Amino acid sequence: MTDPLDWLDDALKDLSDRCLLRQPTVRLGAQQPAHIEWEGQTLVNFGSNDYLGLAADRRVGQAVRETLAGSGWGSGASPLVTGRGQMHARLEDRLAAFEDAEAAVLFPSGFAANVATIPAVVGRGDGVFSDANNHASIIDGCRLSDAAIVVYPHRDLTALRDRLRDGTGFRRRLIVTDTLFSMDGDLAPLAELADLARQHDAMLMVDEAHATGVFGHGGRGVCEAMGIEAGVHIRVGTLSKALGSIGGFVVGQRRLIDWLRNRARAYVYSTAAPEAAAAAACQALQIVQQQPERRLRLLEQADHLRCRLQQQGWSTGRSASQIIPVILGDASRTMELAAQLREQGLLVPGIRPPTVPPGQSLLRISLCHGHTPEHLDRLVDALTPAR
Ligand SMILES: *Cc1c(COP(=O)(O)O)cnc(C)c1O
Repeated sequence: MTDPLDWLDDALKDLSDRCLLRQPTVRLGAQQPAHIEWEGQTLVNFGSNDYLGLAADRRVGQAVRETLAGSGWGSGASPLVTGRGQMHARLEDRLAAFEDAEAAVLFPSGFAANVATIPAVVGRGDGVFSDANNHASIIDGCRLSDAAIVVYPHRDLTALRDRLRDGTGFRRRLIVTDTLFSMDGDLAPLAELADLARQHDAMLMVDEAHATGVFGHGGRGVCEAMGIEAGVHIRVGTLSKALGSIGGFVVGQRRLIDWLRNRARAYVYSTAAPEAAAAAACQALQIVQQQPERRLRLLEQADHLRCRLQQQGWSTGRSASQIIPVILGDASRTMELAAQLREQGLLVPGIRPPTVPPGQSLLRISLCHGHTPEHLDRLVDALTPAR
């Protein structure tokens, strides 16, 4: 007798043979930069997206407890049925105000926001122009949309222009990009993308997942930092990284948000996140606005660390953010170095295919509020090239 799932033995063995098998581990205690308990060791955590240190913030926890006391935990239905509570409505209003947009809509996650939004704005007969390094959720959103997918090489404006020129036959055009790329820590050329969108009558959609709360004078992201918010039609963000909670959102014109509430399937057909999660994000948003020093210090520390690593001869690619890759190429060498760092008390995730293309494996250093100069010294010392 064979079991129809027997093929999985070979498939898993193949991953394992190629050093690509991944397994989740269990973190003990709170998500924080220093002193993370991980596989029986206490480590300094360079593998978190909790950039502003808000995931375990006391004020955020207090907001959660207060909401829990009044509204309970589960939201019980999708937002259009009975799942949207007062705290969801308040967070949408606060997000729209924070982002200086007409309106905002919440999704269960950032992943869901992308997967739902793209098919809601383009379909058969349309073209979507997507950066080769875009996040998996953007890629999946494109695939689900039935639009023609035109992938342009990473940050390659000439290629994009040529493809837009070839794309005049599409009913609608959508250019979509991460603003801060999640593995390489580099930025999209947003001013040029906004120009191209204008010239070619295309919608521009950006994903600020790693930049919300970190970039820009007011903490709105890379679009704000680059002064091009007016040229962007659809702005996606997440509550789950610098804001330390869970959930995704889209901001833009009111008619866009009205449309998404009707046509974005992960909004219509998925249960709203708990109100307490929305309360946490509301509180985090307030801290982002009241404490700009958190993001300023983070980006200063990142500049400093990047310089020191480069001085030691490591390639950090085009990183210009709190995400700093140490590009090694080979997957097994990357995992070996990650293991060596772990022995020295430093948790730095090794990133390998399929998250990055073959031959472009890297250590992904993610700096957060709460990393001290001593933590950075330890990392730099541990990464002194052996030869
Ligand atoms: C993490 C990430 C997402 C997904 O957000 P979640 O809230 O974690 O689901 C979407 N886009 C980008 C660019 C991301 O890095």
